[in-house]
Amino acid sequence: VIEVKHLKKSFGALDVLKDVDFIIDKGQVITIIGSSGSGKSTLLRCMNLLEIPDGGEILYHGEDIRQHTNINSYRAKVGMVFQSFNLFENKTVLENCMLAQMKVLKRSKDEAKDKALKYLKQVGMERFMNASVTTLSGGQKQRVAIARTLCMNPDVILFDEPTSALDPEMVGDVLDVMKNLAKEGLTMAVVTHEMQFAKEVSDIVLFMDAGRVCEMGTPDQIFNHPSHERTKQFLSRYN
Ligand code: ATP
Ligand code: MG
Repeated sequence: VIEVKHLKKSFGALDVLKDVDFIIDKGQVITIIGSSGSGKSTLLRCMNLLEIPDGGEILYHGEDIRQHTNINSYRAKVGMVFQSFNLFENKTVLENCMLAQMKVLKRSKDEAKDKALKYLKQVGMERFMNASVTTLSGGQKQRVAIARTLCMNPDVILFDEPTSALDPEMVGDVLDVMKNLAKEGLTMAVVTHEMQFAKEVSDIVLFMDAGRVCEMGTPDQIFNHPSHERTKQFLSRYN
């Protein structure tokens, strides 16, 4: 579905991504792990057109994503879930889930509401449909953010540390929602520090180090038989 080829991105003199290459096939879950500053968020942001690469290309179904004239319709197909939720705080749960559907997909209000309720139900948040976002906990906000993304019928969802800002007791609920999505066959790329989740759910684990893909493979390869010293060092911090 997505092919990242020789991707490069710098901020001034800082080379954040140096020749990153990988492919996400349909239905795959790829988790991206690595130290702070290794370029994980920048990589996802490039894939969602939030950053413009300096070199290389990102293909979506074989087409360079920069050719997409409508950035919002691309983001409907390749959705993103952020650590900080990025919801409209002064709107209700339902409004948050309906707005982009009507604006970007031109759905009617009724249709948008039907979809919103369907996906809010899936993440266990339909009871809160009329609540203002400000009244929700972090875990509840993140589940709404996931429902909002699902409402756009995405082909792929990119998750950037979706549980890092949550109180520990909320993390499980959000991971459970993500595990179910994986089980249903949704294509996902997930930046995470939740190694147990990565082990259980990933088809491929990609270890980033200093702007490069240091090592990628199955969870068994990466967690039980890492071949690079940097991977071993990184993982030893989680044992
Ligand atoms: P973390 O685990 O802390 O989220 P990360 O792997 O996601 O880290 P990035 O956020 O991609 O890392 O950042 C990689 C490097 O690029 C960091 O040194 C960061 O300070 C720098 N950086 C990221 N965005 C910008 C920006 N907009 N302008 C300048 N520097 C940036
Ligand atoms: Mg990050």
